[in-house]
Amino acid sequence: MDWMGLDKPLFEGLALLGCVVVGCATTPVETLKGGAVAEATAALQTPVAAPEVTPPSEPTEIVMHAVGDCAIGDLHYGAGAPGSFAAEIAAAEDPMGYAFSGVAELFAKDDLTIANLEGTFTTRKAWHNPVFSIRGAPENAQMLVRGGVELVDVENNHAFDYGVEGHEDTKAALEKVGVGYFGRDNVDRRTIKGMKIVNLGYLGGPKGTRAKMVADVERERGPNTIVIVSFHWGVEGYYATHPDQQRLGRAAIDAGASLVLGHHPHVVQGIETYRDRPIVYSMGNFVFGANSRPQDMDSFIYRVRFALDDAKVTAVTGEVIPVRISSDEKRNDFRPRLLDGAEAKRVREKIGDLSAKLPAT
Ligand SMILES: [Zn+2]
Repeated sequence: MDWMGLDKPLFEGLALLGCVVVGCATTPVETLKGGAVAEATAALQTPVAAPEVTPPSEPTEIVMHAVGDCAIGDLHYGAGAPGSFAAEIAAAEDPMGYAFSGVAELFAKDDLTIANLEGTFTTRKAWHNPVFSIRGAPENAQMLVRGGVELVDVENNHAFDYGVEGHEDTKAALEKVGVGYFGRDNVDRRTIKGMKIVNLGYLGGPKGTRAKMVADVERERGPNTIVIVSFHWGVEGYYATHPDQQRLGRAAIDAGASLVLGHHPHVVQGIETYRDRPIVYSMGNFVFGANSRPQDMDSFIYRVRFALDDAKVTAVTGEVIPVRISSDEKRNDFRPRLLDGAEAKRVREKIGDLSAKLPAT
C-alpha cells in the first residue's frame, strides 16, 4: 500500500457565416482576369441588403466530465490470460470502442472529459514497479478517442511502470491520437468558449508538492481562466480521506483553483464544497484493466458546470453520475455502465454519507 450552453451547431453556423462574409470582401481582385475583374468589382459595389444577423450571445456554460483511475491495459503478468483486459478486447466486436461504449455518448456531448491514466501505453518488457506494472498496447490510446476522453492525467504512481522510456512511449501514443495530457511537468492549456482552461496534476505525497502546486496555480490563474488541479493522493482502499488530502485540496482552492479532482484510493470518497468550489476527493476506478475482480465496483462520473458571465466564472456546480465499472454482474468486464433506479440511489447515498463525514475544518 503506498501513500501518496451556446451549442456547437450555432457556433459553427456563425463561424461559417463569418467566413463567407469575410471571404467575399477579401477576394483578391488582382488575381482575377479580364471580365472576371469587372464582374467581381460590380459584385462588390452592388449594394446588397445585409442579412439580419443576431450578434452571438455570450456563452453561458462549460460542461465537463471527470473520471478516476483508467488502466487501459493489464498487469505485466496478466495480459492475454482468460478474463484479462487484452482477452476481453480481443474478443470484442469493436475492440477500440468496447471499453467506453457505455459512456461514449455522454462524453461526446460535453466540452471536455478528463480521466486519470493509471498505467502506460508501451511495448517495453522491463517492468519497474516492484508490485504492479500496468501496460497497454500503444494503439489502446485510440480507446480514449472513441470514448470521448480528450485529456488525461499522467502524474500517478504507475506513470513509470516501464521506466522513463515507457512514460515517453505513453506520451507519444497520446500525441499520435490527439489526446492531451497533464501532470508532472506537463501543463495542458486549451481554450473553450473563449475561456482558457488550465489543467495541472500532482502526486499528493511528496514533500514540496504544496509549494509547487500553489506557485503553479498562482502563475496560471487570471481573467478568463479556469484552473483545475488534479491530485493522485490518499490511501488505497480507504473511503475516508486522509487529513493531508483536505489540507492540500483546500490550498489549491485558496491559491485560485476552480475545481479539485482526486484519485488513487480505487474506491470513492466524499465531495466537499469549499469556498463555493468543489473538491472531489476520489472518483474511484473507471475503465480498470488491472483488476478483473475488484471488491467494490461502485464509481461515478463527476459532471461539473462552470457558469460564465462576461468571461468570468460565476458558479461551479457539480453532479454525481453513478456508475458501475463493469457491465457484468460478477466480474469486471472493463466496460463501465451508467446506473439507474435503486442502484444509482445507493451509490449517490454512499457518496453523500462519505461527504457528510468529512471534517468541517
Ligand atoms: Zn494510484
